[in-house]
Amino acid sequence: MLNIEDLHVSVDGKAILKGLQMTVKPGEVHAIMGPNGSGKSTLANTLAGHESYKVMSGTIHYDGHDLLSLTADQRACEGVFVAFQYPTEIPGVSNIQFLKTALNSQRKYHQLDELDAVDFLQQVKAKVAQVGMEESLLYRAVNEGFSGGEKKHNEILQLLVLEPRLAILDETDSGLDIDALKTIAAGVNAFRNSERAIILVTHYQRLLSFIKPDFVHVLMDGKIVRSAGPELALELEEKGYGEWVA
Ligand code: ADP
Ligand code: MG
Ligand code: MG
Repeated sequence: MLNIEDLHVSVDGKAILKGLQMTVKPGEVHAIMGPNGSGKSTLANTLAGHESYKVMSGTIHYDGHDLLSLTADQRACEGVFVAFQYPTEIPGVSNIQFLKTALNSQRKYHQLDELDAVDFLQQVKAKVAQVGMEESLLYRAVNEGFSGGEKKHNEILQLLVLEPRLAILDETDSGLDIDALKTIAAGVNAFRNSERAIILVTHYQRLLSFIKPDFVHVLMDGKIVRSAGPELALELEEKGYGEWVA
């Protein structure tokens, strides 16, 4: 589904990703761990198509197609979803309107009719309940004045409503209390199936005890320096990243 080869990405003229390799197959969950500043969010932003992140060399294929030739909007319509570490606020656009517009633009891209407004509202409300959000948040401007936890819940709501095929979740667990973490994890697990893949960026093994990854990768200074099964997260929690520090 996703094949990243020798990816080099610069931000503001500074090399951040330095030869990243990664292959993700449908049904898989990959966790990416690594110290602050190692390039985890840079990878998420690059996959999303954020224009400040310049791909200097290397390739990214999604479903066999060149992902880098697609605009950010096209990527979203093709089923690539990125939940950012710092979710953006969209003043003046209600959450429900945002979800409806996003979903309908995806449908239009695939030449499907717009959703019936009543069906849509019913479906969204069911998902709001599933992620344990207050329904009133649907009618507020996207993420504006949302608490950290509410923003993270909102990302999972977007995930469940938009039903992408590849979801990249950047520190979706940061700042959550244990109950919120469990609800978020339940939402992600409900999303998980054999046709979808997830890349989870996290600092903590704690999330991975609720969402069991197939692979854990260590990202250090712009490269994946080690990949293994879920047991690697436990080892990292215990030993830290010292082994790879030059
Ligand atoms: P991580 O998510 O692993 O903590 P990031 O990908 O956010 O790391 O950052 C990696 C490096 O890239 C850092 O040195 C950071 O300062 C730099 N960086 C990331 N985004 C930007 C940006 N928009 N402008 C300037 N520097 C950036
Ligand atoms: Mg960080
Ligand atoms: Mg980050």
